[in-house]
Amino acid sequence: NPFAGARFLRSCARLDQLPRDPLPEIAFAGRSNAGKSSALNALCGQHALARVSKTPGRTQWINLFEIPGGRFADLPGYGYAKVSRELQRDWSDLIGRYLETRSNLRGVVLIMDIRHPLAASDRQMLDWLLHRGLPCHLLLTKADKLGFGAAKNTLLAMRRALPQHGAVSMQLFSAHTGLGLDELRSHIEALLTA
Ligand code: GDP
Repeated sequence: NPFAGARFLRSCARLDQLPRDPLPEIAFAGRSNAGKSSALNALCGQHALARVSKTPGRTQWINLFEIPGGRFADLPGYGYAKVSRELQRDWSDLIGRYLETRSNLRGVVLIMDIRHPLAASDRQMLDWLLHRGLPCHLLLTKADKLGFGAAKNTLLAMRRALPQHGAVSMQLFSAHTGLGLDELRSHIEALLTA
């Protein structure tokens, strides 16, 4: 596993707290509870790596992790109804500016619960990413909650639903069973070295 040595770097509440070196970054985004922390932990083979992203006070920040040859950026989960409008505004401001201006951002892994894929907020995020021309990899996670046939069918339906676009790829995933781990790792390695 190339990401086994991943370690927490820092939490950034503002863009000027991000490192200025040109190391490539891969961002992870998704609705709250989609399974983003579990996916990051599974990806890096560590049980508690992304726990920091759940620490009170840090859930709305960009949490950075060092990996060989680059960084992972764990973006705050979106679409959480209980978050105040003001906080939502701060959130979209920080994340919007990060996605728009971060020149070393090589791609985004967009995590969705396979049982509730492509909510309005997911579509908005996807539109942003494609507008900026960022490669976007959709992770349909918690695939273990569906039978393999049903999961496969959802993947096929998603491929049909999204306009043909070279910048979008997608796969099945499960943090619990490890389904799709190798595929995700090689996809991220390809993005990092592209
Ligand atoms: P986050 O808010 O997006 O970081 O979501 P978490 O990673 O904390 O996961 C939210 C809930 O979904 C937790 O109860 C996890 O145990 C569960 N979960 C996450 N990934 C999977 C998965 O692949 N399979 C199953 N069955 N449950 C999962």
